Amino acid sequence: METPAFLDRDRPDVPDLVVPGGVTPFYLQGRPVRGRLVRLGVLTDVLLTRHDHPNVVNRLAGKALALVAGLASALKFQGAFSLQIKGDGPVTMLVADCTDTGALRFYARTDDDALDALLQDTPNPTDRDLLGNGYMALTVDQGPDMERHQGIVDLAGDDLAAMATHYFSTSEQHACWIYLCCTMTNAGWRAGGLVLERIAGEGGTHVVGDEDADASWETATILASTLSTKEVLDDALPSATLLHRLFHQEDLHVSQPRALAYGCRCSRARLANVLEGFDTDDLDHMCQDDGQIVMTCEFCNHDFRFPRKDIAPRSA
Ligand SMILES: [Zn+2]
Repeated sequence: METPAFLDRDRPDVPDLVVPGGVTPFYLQGRPVRGRLVRLGVLTDVLLTRHDHPNVVNRLAGKALALVAGLASALKFQGAFSLQIKGDGPVTMLVADCTDTGALRFYARTDDDALDALLQDTPNPTDRDLLGNGYMALTVDQGPDMERHQGIVDLAGDDLAAMATHYFSTSEQHACWIYLCCTMTNAGWRAGGLVLERIAGEGGTHVVGDEDADASWETATILASTLSTKEVLDDALPSATLLHRLFHQEDLHVSQPRALAYGCRCSRARLANVLEGFDTDDLDHMCQDDGQIVMTCEFCNHDFRFPRKDIAPRSA
């Protein structure tokens, strides 16, 4: 049996950081609209700077983290909600996930030559320039005994928010309005966003073409469009105040905010278990001159060192 995280003394020395109120859920009473305002605050800087990516990749990754935080907090599940994008652009792979308790992590893989070439021509690339053509998958993983729910769509649109909106309109037939931002501020990297979802009207019925509902949804998206990056990323501006600014005429109800946290779930015990699955030849091949095997967690960029002599293959 795997060592539970709280008993695992060999977890890496990564920041134990919680941002209270990182996600603020809300709904507009009597209207087919609910949403979440997401603000990662200082967590953005801590998550992004564990890696050594160029700024353009950090901006994309910060938006991906805000997106998974904003989507996961709408679901009832236990486990991890993940975004995975695989494309033919300079960012070949982007993975971000958020657990039911708000623990966030990500990794990105890049083709550095292709990225340099892109930045030569296009100093301010769009998310799409970075990702190219490919697909986006959203997965709810509730552990080995539960069925995984996964939806996959082709990448469409110039930015991550458009790609996610496209995902919901095609894969889930669910109207969403999504805004994402990430930038370097005086206080460090900051990311956030706003997700609006069109939900069934009161009584659980949504009549297509219901003019009042259509108008209410449209009004909410127009108000949401007035949101600025500066407001979302301003640590000193409370989330409830910001939501009130946007929706005070729409019978806004702000629900209990939820925390976000630094959330790598790697552990020495888990990686040792992976190593024990290799055979002797593979282990010898992985072993460095100093007699150690180094495994790096892609999510938190932590190097785990295992003396080769301590690893015995299960198959032997
Ligand atoms: Zn890790």
